[in-house]
Amino acid sequence: MTSVVETDEHKALRAAVAALGARYGRDYIRRTVAAGAHPDELWAEAAKLGYLGVNLPEEYGGGGGGISELSIVLEELGAAGSPLLMLVVSPAICGTVIARFGTEEQKRAWLPGLADGSRLMAFGITEPDAGSNSHRITTTARRDGTDWLLTGRKVFISGVDQADATLIVGRTEDARTGRLKPCLFIVPRDAEGFGRRPIDMELRAAEKQFELTLDDVRLPADALVGDEDAGLLQLFAGLNPERIMTAAFAIGMGRYALARAVEYARDRTVWRTPIGAHQAIAHPLAQSHIELEMARLMMQKAAHLYDSGDDIGAGEAANMAKYAAGEACVKAVDQAVHTLGGNGLTNEFGLASLITAARVSRIAPVSREMILNYVSHQTLGLPKSY
Ligand SMILES: Cc1cc2nc3c(=O)[nH]c(=O)nc-3n(C[C@H](O)[C@H](O)[C@H](O)COP(=O)(O)OP(=O)(O)OC[C@H]3O[C@@H](n4cnc5c(N)ncnc54)[C@H](O)[C@@H]3O)c2cc1C
Repeated sequence: MTSVVETDEHKALRAAVAALGARYGRDYIRRTVAAGAHPDELWAEAAKLGYLGVNLPEEYGGGGGGISELSIVLEELGAAGSPLLMLVVSPAICGTVIARFGTEEQKRAWLPGLADGSRLMAFGITEPDAGSNSHRITTTARRDGTDWLLTGRKVFISGVDQADATLIVGRTEDARTGRLKPCLFIVPRDAEGFGRRPIDMELRAAEKQFELTLDDVRLPADALVGDEDAGLLQLFAGLNPERIMTAAFAIGMGRYALARAVEYARDRTVWRTPIGAHQAIAHPLAQSHIELEMARLMMQKAAHLYDSGDDIGAGEAANMAKYAAGEACVKAVDQAVHTLGGNGLTNEFGLASLITAARVSRIAPVSREMILNYVSHQTLGLPKSY
């Protein structure tokens, strides 16, 4: 796709995923969260339809598409009220990194399962003392014969309980200080010395966040994905898709909230006309629609650049898309809640909890400020304060 207009194939995928989403929707996610469960039924059905691995290579059971297609899947499920957060992590980050940098054995071992949804991989880079500054991560791998011993701590890692393994970003002992030279390890869920503790989040989501401890976790040589010296390129092969997918997550949620507000504003009448006829209600909703559309256009550009192999161009566009989508989502959700008046705060309408959820797209995987820093320095050439 070089046109800014979506292809017929993409439109068809959008419509098909939207139809699946409509059969689940927000009530399904609410019931799942209330039961302390995971959205397994939706995950399994999306898998059967080939949506989960749509970006992974065909020879390993995937759909042979790219992040363009996977972002459509996530956006449409989100717009139906039932997003699958683990799509951001399992096929988009981990699947992509393994497909691009894994050995033949790693590809065979993981990609078919990630593609058909039978296996799941979480992704851990954030650390308590590093946060936005990933150059400060201290999770360290040291060699012991042909094995690796991995030690460190991670925080806010999503879906570790559901995942068969977590792709952990560390650094080797030789590269312990200075600019990050990351290396990536597949750590099986039950590896000895690999501990997890759920974080008590205010989010109402089916996916949980965990604090992880790695205490001399022994891993075989083939747990390392890619080259220990390949550096940031290999990491960003996963982080750019993550940013694009977070944009999709945000746009989907924004669209969901906006649609609920529009439905409500069309009917709710407290004077002579429905409240949607008052421009103070209509215009912010129209603005949100425009901002979500613009964010989607940027997301499509980023996905297109990424899928066509332009990692550098995709980096800038993915950051901008994530920024635009996060801001549009936060604003759309806020305006949606406001549009419903008191009903915006009831469990029955279920919008207020999205205020918290929408903020995730402003903070993770890279905060609004760090994107503004990136654009200030990389795009505009301004000096750095830190
Ligand atoms: C729901 C959720 C799920 C997550 N899932 C994962 C996951 O699966 N895997 C994973 O690895 N991580 C995950 N994260 C972590 C997420 O990526 C981090 O929270 C994020 O990168 C920010 O890091 P931090 O929380 O340490 O904030 P900090 O780095 O402490 O930042 C705090 C504030 O300071 C600002 N700030 C920091 N430095 C600067 C600066 N130089 N200039 C201006 N402002 C600055 C930030 O913008 C932010 O507003 C998740 C987080 C959440 C909330």
